[in-house]
Amino acid sequence: PAGRRPLLAGNWKMHTLPGEAAELAAAVRQGLEGQALSAEVVLCPPFTSLAAAGQALAGSPIALGAQDLVWGEFGAFTGAISAPMLRELGCRYVIVGHSERRQLLGETDALIQRKLEAALAGGLTPILCVGEDAAQRREGRTAAVVLGQVAFALAGLEPGQAAQVVIAYEPVWAIGSGTPATPGDAQAVAAAIRQLVARLHGPAAAAAVRVLYGGSVKPDNIAGFMAQPDVDGALVGGASLDGAAFARLVREG
Ligand code: PEP
Repeated sequence: PAGRRPLLAGNWKMHTLPGEAAELAAAVRQGLEGQALSAEVVLCPPFTSLAAAGQALAGSPIALGAQDLVWGEFGAFTGAISAPMLRELGCRYVIVGHSERRQLLGETDALIQRKLEAALAGGLTPILCVGEDAAQRREGRTAAVVLGQVAFALAGLEPGQAAQVVIAYEPVWAIGSGTPATPGDAQAVAAAIRQLVARLHGPAAAAAVRVLYGGSVKPDNIAGFMAQPDVDGALVGGASLDGAAFARLVREG
């Protein structure tokens, strides 16, 4: 919408061994063969499957993304993976601040901000995940929570950097639940995010930033989200683990 190229990203989470990743990536590739892709398509396997998936995607327009990173390049940071390591494997994207990492692994807004800056500095396009949980929604705090997360993450960026960030609005209650937000609710939050980016970094950044919806997106409901003026694509979990289904989702989107 409005000149922004749509983006459809598959988050494989902690699924696939390398052989399975190669098969899944190949199935997505095959399902999209011969299609003129209006959307950018990104697959995000776990770290240990990046190389295998990357090989299966070589020469195709489908891009590779990682699910996390930390700042720095090389050094004393046991267990961590940095932007140059991901770049070397062919990654162009990286998910930052997924709700599972916030909730299960204790990631804070401050940590996520550092990761976001590291992704940009390291030449990766970050997909920043934000979203309210069920209790926050019940309490009417959706906008406050989501905009607070976005403001924290983007506050220190230059406008040119902010324009490059992809923001995925993923209500926590909708992830893996089979109950997506309505397209209208996704649009309302996406529009509020874009207005916040305009206040923080100006109208050009706001017009350029891509806002995705995520949470129980399937081939049969993607079109409703893509029809919203401020929704520029989707971050897809469960439905990205079936290559034919994800290819169908891309074609429907
Ligand atoms: C996700 O994990 O980012 C996600 C949106 O999952 P699902 O599509 O399975 O709800």
